[in-house]
Amino acid sequence: MTVTRRALLHTGLAVTALPALGINASADVVPTGLPLAAPTIVTCDEWGARQPSEPIQMLDHRPTYIVVHHTATPNADDISRDHAVRLAHSIQDFHMDSRGWIDSGQQLTNTRGGYLMEGRRRSVEAVANGHEHVQGANVADHNSEVIGIENEGTYSTEDAPGALWDSLVKAVVLIARQYGIAPAEIRGHRDFNATECPGKVLYGRLPELRDAVGAELAKPVDQPAVLPLLSPNDSGTIVRAAQHLLRDRGYPLATDGMYGSATVDAVRAFTIRAGLPYQPCYGTRSADERHLIGAPTWSALVRPVDLADGSEAAAAARLLDPARGSAGRVEIRDWLTMLSR
Ligand SMILES: [Zn+2]
Repeated sequence: MTVTRRALLHTGLAVTALPALGINASADVVPTGLPLAAPTIVTCDEWGARQPSEPIQMLDHRPTYIVVHHTATPNADDISRDHAVRLAHSIQDFHMDSRGWIDSGQQLTNTRGGYLMEGRRRSVEAVANGHEHVQGANVADHNSEVIGIENEGTYSTEDAPGALWDSLVKAVVLIARQYGIAPAEIRGHRDFNATECPGKVLYGRLPELRDAVGAELAKPVDQPAVLPLLSPNDSGTIVRAAQHLLRDRGYPLATDGMYGSATVDAVRAFTIRAGLPYQPCYGTRSADERHLIGAPTWSALVRPVDLADGSEAAAAARLLDPARGSAGRVEIRDWLTMLSR
């Protein structure tokens, strides 16, 4: 199906932006579903990427989620295009030569200077056609359903610069529009794997990102329920609940609400015994993230429980939701609700 260039212009579409997406807009006819005022994305050919070591897997469906990462590289001051090209090369080299992947793991890279670079080859082509998905390597166990954006820098304590933020919004708007992805499906890497990625600060801005994308697309914004990430030195009710759940699994911890060394040891032991694969953000650094309680850890820790059964799991549930009282049953979906508050 096609629409005319006139129709696109009539609705305010920036046809001039199409070549940047690698699309040849002929004189009067362009494919449907093409972007409105699409941001420029520097394609693999344009930045001189290496060829993939194996053919790219083009999946015949849309991705479900748009996933935000940080590269966990320095917060560089160089905002030039040359720097963006060097970064794209260094990530590709790392992923291909050290990780052994066929190409860059992420579909897009976004720099602190606001440059959007194609990551895995054919990603721009897939986004442009709006119904296919390039299988990447950026969220373990979920690569067939996620399209990942690597944002240059480390946002654990520092905020992202304005240029990076603006280009992130534009990229997500483009992808969400092309694939018909709802703002609620804009997620952070930590929503899938036990990793700090995309950094506490950038992750904390995902509600703002969903709002910005929803406003741009005139779509309602539901902020999704997400599981918390716990790390050493955290404290409070959720840590105490985690300690009860670890006790429920046979680790005799004090329930002091402090994520100290005893909790770290129990988490590591539980993770191994439960057979949870170690899935940090392999796309970037090699930091040891085994001590984190992330989404997969919670999923393995919780279980359906009767509040009145006197178990440690019941104690955890009562802590998280005192209003439930001391009777009734807590199902898995209830844990998500209680933990995401
Ligand atoms: Zn990541």
